[in-house]
Amino acid sequence: MGKDKMELSLSLNNTCNLRCRMCRIWNSGEEENKLTLEKCQGVIDELGAFEVKGVRLSGGDPLLVPWVLDLAGYINKKKYHSCATTNGSMINEAYALKIVSSGLSNLNISLDSYTPGIHDTIRGLPGGRDRIMDAIGHIAKKGSGPEIGINTVISNFNLDDLLILADAIQDDKRINHLYFMAIMQPFNTPPDKGWFLKEDFRGLWPEDKDKVRYVINELIARKKSGYKINNSFAQLRAFVDYFLDPLHFARKNTCNLGKEVMEVNQMGDVFLCHLYESIGNVFQDSLSNIWGSEKARLVRDKINRCSQNCNLLINCYFEEEDV
Ligand code: SF4
Ligand code: SF4
Repeated sequence: MGKDKMELSLSLNNTCNLRCRMCRIWNSGEEENKLTLEKCQGVIDELGAFEVKGVRLSGGDPLLVPWVLDLAGYINKKKYHSCATTNGSMINEAYALKIVSSGLSNLNISLDSYTPGIHDTIRGLPGGRDRIMDAIGHIAKKGSGPEIGINTVISNFNLDDLLILADAIQDDKRINHLYFMAIMQPFNTPPDKGWFLKEDFRGLWPEDKDKVRYVINELIARKKSGYKINNSFAQLRAFVDYFLDPLHFARKNTCNLGKEVMEVNQMGDVFLCHLYESIGNVFQDSLSNIWGSEKARLVRDKINRCSQNCNLLINCYFEEEDV
């Protein structure tokens, strides 16, 4: 029997230097980070038991972790694909050189608008958009660095500006791809299906349904014409359904989590889906044992039977086929 496929996500911290409008990760308190470089290297060593699809480095913002690029270098030596996601605010020229030297395969930077005022308002950092463009320049100048991707969260703040962003990214040869995500209930707030109706979050939610339809259909048309938009057509269409009727948005397929993805948080706890319990901890057991454990089997059963009208899937693991 062949090895199981595995995409490993390592969440290295749960802290961030920004205070974005769509995220309250900064509200989680100063939780201890138990993962160390040595522990993560040990976990990477254990991936030999799997057919590795790639390793994601996430957070919080993983670039705030002092040893993150040493880890990227270690993953590179093992010849696994690596990917890190960042707000890009701390990438100056010296940091860009370290990123390039590390051998990181892919760097996804969050850019919500090409217009400085809009991006900076969403992300709460004056000059934030310009810092990102400078960061991209620093990395591109070094040559042979990671592929650079842009992640953009669609919200009411940037809906008017998304087409300008898509056109600008298309023209920018330094950027490999653009990936859209739909605004979700801000991270680290109590679960609430009607979150988007709450006064606190109203500014985030796009209420002009005609505009949503128009803008996303225009993005679909641009993708058809060859734009480097990484979302599938089916996912872009699903965004329209989601924004028009979030309470009744429904995935059409059964959930595929539990088959090829494992997430390890900063405390070493391992999850197949964050809505279900942890299946183990990397400080107590090996990855293969955790993957094959009774706890994992029980959570997989729950995932197979999961009837959540789950919005997590629309952004992260959307797998409906294009037709
Ligand atoms: S969205 Fe990303 S950059 Fe913004 S506060 Fe959350 S983790 Fe930080
Ligand atoms: S909650 Fe969502 S991601 Fe988790 S198992 Fe259910 S459908 Fe899948």
